[in-house]
Amino acid sequence: MKMPIALAEERRESSLSSKVIPKARREGPGAPNLADYDQARREFSWERARRELDGLPGGGGLNICHEAVDRHAAGPLRDHLAIRWLGKNGEISGTTYGQLLRLTSRFANLLRSLGVAKGDRVFVLAGRIPELYIAALGTLKHRVVFCPLFSAFGPEPIRARLAIGRAKVLVTTQSLYERKIKPLRAQLPFLEHIILIGEGHQTADVPGTMDYSRSMAEASDSYTIEPTDPEDAALLHFTSGTTGTPKGALHVHEAVVAHHITGKLALDFHPNDIFWCTADPGWVTGTSYGIIAPLTSGITSIVDEGDFDPARWYEILQSHKVTVWYSAPTAIRMLMKAGTDLVHRYDLRSLRFLSSVGEPLNSEAVLWSQEAFGLPFHDNWWQTETGGIMIANFASMDVRPGSMGRPLPGIEAAIVREKEDGSVEEIREPGAEGELALRPGWPSMFRAYWEDSARYKKCFAGGFYLTGDLARQDGDGYFWFVGRKDDVIKTSGHLVGPFEVESALLEHKAVAESAVIGKPDPVALEIVKAFVVLRAGFQPGEELLRELLGFARTRLGAAIAPREIEFVNSLPRTRSGKIMRRLLKARELGLPEGDISTLEAGYVHG
Ligand code: AMP
Repeated sequence: MKMPIALAEERRESSLSSKVIPKARREGPGAPNLADYDQARREFSWERARRELDGLPGGGGLNICHEAVDRHAAGPLRDHLAIRWLGKNGEISGTTYGQLLRLTSRFANLLRSLGVAKGDRVFVLAGRIPELYIAALGTLKHRVVFCPLFSAFGPEPIRARLAIGRAKVLVTTQSLYERKIKPLRAQLPFLEHIILIGEGHQTADVPGTMDYSRSMAEASDSYTIEPTDPEDAALLHFTSGTTGTPKGALHVHEAVVAHHITGKLALDFHPNDIFWCTADPGWVTGTSYGIIAPLTSGITSIVDEGDFDPARWYEILQSHKVTVWYSAPTAIRMLMKAGTDLVHRYDLRSLRFLSSVGEPLNSEAVLWSQEAFGLPFHDNWWQTETGGIMIANFASMDVRPGSMGRPLPGIEAAIVREKEDGSVEEIREPGAEGELALRPGWPSMFRAYWEDSARYKKCFAGGFYLTGDLARQDGDGYFWFVGRKDDVIKTSGHLVGPFEVESALLEHKAVAESAVIGKPDPVALEIVKAFVVLRAGFQPGEELLRELLGFARTRLGAAIAPREIEFVNSLPRTRSGKIMRRLLKARELGLPEGDISTLEAGYVHG
């Protein structure tokens, strides 16, 4: 679905404006890694990028955990802080590369002792606690597929993802287990082991359930990584489409080449950087850049367990002397709301580079950050399927507020349009709108949707990977986001599939039909809004509304449950029965309805 016309217009205007934030001048050891864009593109090759990594000893291939942890633990970075963890109640702890080596080895040995083997799937459902990071890297070390689940998901999205990925092991906390997993246990026969984090719980009565601390203490802290083919499966990230179940985008160990080089070129990592990625590892940014990329560069990564809070965030930037900060537009807009005065109470002189991803970063937010921090947020673009940053505003380039930037070296991006015969053609005319497409072949490109080759195939045409985003490219090569081509919703940076929400609502006895759209919101970009047709015998009213909102929240979790529900008499459908969400959205916004020639006869709005 396209972005509301008003927003698209605003973006078009801002792209035509000559507003530019000149690049910061930095020379010497702190100079940007990508000094000259055109030269970097000319000289770049993935082969050369790969040479920045070590590979397993003796030509044993490429393993993400080796590149992120083991190789540093064996060298001068052994005692360097890898992760500084900030607990939500003020606890602070740190793990060096040497310690991370031993902890991830213990976890890999623990998996081995359970008979978990190459290619099996280990899911982790946890907040941003140290065990999550150890389990992720230990899983990769053992050549098992790591799959993160967002801890704010309700039981239904968790069940669906565990079932699609046929999870063999689940690592979770005692309290998440009690609230979200225990009621589902009978529906998860394939799940052989649950590893529970937390003290003082009773595991004896639950077969297949074990204690994380005890099992880790019993496991050896020495582990030799077995030969890993760069094409071995490594990461499974769920994402959403307009229809159908969530899709598991599968990435391989080779992806680490892209994680590493994009950390260096797009996030401008330098030795001794203190990096803070605010994303949760339940989403792809929190894994690619919240876990892997900073570690492959041997820098210190901040992990904050706490929830968003402007004062807390500024305090973290100040006291931990963060140098590179990677966040998201919704958070930046909320910081804007909290005001510039608050920012100026903190000493944030350590900050060198600010970056943002996940949704359109409006030009006002970039200009505000320049005023508040003396530094602009550098927008970049990528998605679950691309595994790493594809388009970026680089430290060495002037920032064009509102633009996503230019493609990374090694990445060919284009604007394409579908022709009547179904083939696609590249549009070279500057400023023309079309679908953003990428030439396949970069290391972190997804290799499959888990057991769904038909959906995977549909993403490719005319030698391109089609991203599902609409964009434009200006005459200087900068890309500008226009909107989504499909009906997925971006709310507070999280991608939500309408079908998943509609299906959950249909489980309520009062609901006959439902349709879900993203309703524009000044802070969250969109909120999830559901239209509901009631079954005969149920009357719309405040009480039922509250019940449905609560029902959806309990099933789906706060991250994806609808924030608004509206009762309607019928839903617009095409003659073939597909819900016309586009029409509902246009009506919600009072915008032109576009082509309604396929609308089912007899539909009455209201
Ligand atoms: P996800 O796969 O959940 O990371 O979501 C990817 C989608 O988020 C993209 O396809 C875009 O629709 C949106 N997105 C990511 N980064 C940006 C950006 N910088 N500007 C606009 N939209 C973005």
